[in-house]
Amino acid sequence: NDNKFRDAKPRLMLMGLRRSGKSSISSVVFHKMPPNETLFLESTTRIQKDSVHSFMDFQVWDFPGQLELLGPSFDLEEVFGSLGAVVWVIDAQDDYVESVVRLNRTILTIMQYYPNINIEVFIHKVDALADEYRTEVFQDIVQRISDDLSDAGYENAPVHYYLTSIYDYSVFEAFSKVIQKLIPQLPTLENLINILCNNCGFDKCYLFDVLSKIYIASDTRPVDMSCYEMCSDYIDVIVDISELFSWEHPDRKPKGDQMREAESHVVLQNASMIHLMEMNKYLCLVSVIHNPDANEKKGLIDMNCRVFQDALNDIFSRSWDQSTEEQPAEGE
Ligand code: GDP
Repeated sequence: NDNKFRDAKPRLMLMGLRRSGKSSISSVVFHKMPPNETLFLESTTRIQKDSVHSFMDFQVWDFPGQLELLGPSFDLEEVFGSLGAVVWVIDAQDDYVESVVRLNRTILTIMQYYPNINIEVFIHKVDALADEYRTEVFQDIVQRISDDLSDAGYENAPVHYYLTSIYDYSVFEAFSKVIQKLIPQLPTLENLINILCNNCGFDKCYLFDVLSKIYIASDTRPVDMSCYEMCSDYIDVIVDISELFSWEHPDRKPKGDQMREAESHVVLQNASMIHLMEMNKYLCLVSVIHNPDANEKKGLIDMNCRVFQDALNDIFSRSWDQSTEEQPAEGE
């Protein structure tokens, strides 16, 4: 079951020039490194198959590195054959012209062979730019890329842009959007979460990848950044203080006998309640209720979340079965 799951995981590849911030992003998102400590990271110099124990498969590539995308030794199928998205990181503080040129060349190559791969551009390190300048840089980069692509005959290339920084939640938010596009079951999940929200009186509900705190789905009400931050911080609190997540997991060792799935809730000063329930090895559901009486409905909430859990695991086990039939085994 675990192997099946791995083959069906959404795949991400992080690319960009050296020093653009790839290792920092991967350390902050997947290894919980505090952003300040990335100042001391050694720059990536080789292909890293970053094995993260997460809902998604994730690799970091330096570009250009020891390899050129178009070189004869390079097997495109191996790289992009089963890939979901390429995330290209551009250092917005630096002169980005070279990065944009290389990105354009890469897009054209990829589009020729694998037109369905999403190209996601992270205009990164924007924390250091003034607000007005941010918009200017953003527009300039988008313009340069789309001009180039339309010259080459691609009018509606699947390229999307995000302003990101490791010093706030923008990079998590951007990854969440990138991942969601790779989940074919997203509409079903959103539907189920909407129903759950109605039944439980949740004001907002996120389905998180526990390790990275990227959310793979939420209800379809507008995203409120402070609410997202609160939910995401709550996962840390739960994981850190009690290590009560009891699934077999190399990075999280349980202490003693426990329930298989963690469940926890807290009532905040403003009478809101945060409710967290682990769904499976990778995912947990975190919800916010702005209702002083929410605590009394705990039993109902727990029951509804269990029903959701069954539906969720049913959806994914079906898709693993399907996708493993057509996918070759990974040679790693
Ligand atoms: P890589 O070679 O692409 O892996 O780049 P690194 O991850 O080594 O990052 C290069 C430098 O950029 C490091 O000193 C990081 O601290 C810095 N950096 C990365 N992300 C950000 C960001 O969002 N904002 C700022 N201000 N600096 C960043």
